[in-house]
Amino acid sequence: MAQGGWISRWPVLRQLRGENARGSAARSARTDALRPRTEDADSVARSVCPYCAVGCGQLVYVKDGRVTQIEGDPDSPISRGRLCPKGSASKQLVTHPGRQTQVLYRRPHGTEWESLDLETAMDMIADRVVRTRRETWQQEEGGKVVRRTMGIASLGGATLDNEENYLMKKLYTALGAIQVENQARI
Ligand code: SF4
Repeated sequence: MAQGGWISRWPVLRQLRGENARGSAARSARTDALRPRTEDADSVARSVCPYCAVGCGQLVYVKDGRVTQIEGDPDSPISRGRLCPKGSASKQLVTHPGRQTQVLYRRPHGTEWESLDLETAMDMIADRVVRTRRETWQQEEGGKVVRRTMGIASLGGATLDNEENYLMKKLYTALGAIQVENQARI
C-alpha cells in the first residue's frame, strides 16, 4: 500500500475525521476481507449439544455432506447462542480422525483390544444380562417378596437426555434392577 494510503487509514486520523473509534476506525483492510467460516455451507441443521444435560442449542453447518462448523443457536431459549468450550468443540465428535468408530473388546485377562462387529457385541451384552439376572435373581428377602436382582446396576452419564433416561429406567425396572443412577447433578 502506498504510504499516503496507509497514513490516511491510520486509526488516529480516522477518528479525527469522525469515524467511530470502536467501529469503522478500528477496522483494517484485512478485517474487511475476512469472511465467516460458515458462509459457504450448503445447509444448516438445528441440533442440541450432546455433551451435557443443559441441552444448548446448536447450528450445524454442512458442506458436501460433511459437518464443517458447529455454532451456538441464537434462537435457543436454553442457551441463546452460547456454547461452553465443550459444546464449541463438539464438531470433533464427528470429524476428529481419532474418533473410535468400531466396537473394541478386551477379554478377561486379555492384554489386547479386539475389534467386534456391532451385532456380535450386542449379542454378547444381551447374553450377559440374561445370565446375570438369572443367576442373581432374588424372589424374597427376609420373608418379604422383593423380586429383584442386585447383580445389575446402571450409572448413566450427563449426555443422556430426559427421554433416554426415561427409557433406561423403564428397561432396568422391567429387568428387576433397582440400582439405577445418573451422575448428572445440574
Ligand atoms: S456441554 Fe456446554 S454447550 Fe454442551 S449442553 Fe452442556 S453447557 Fe451447553
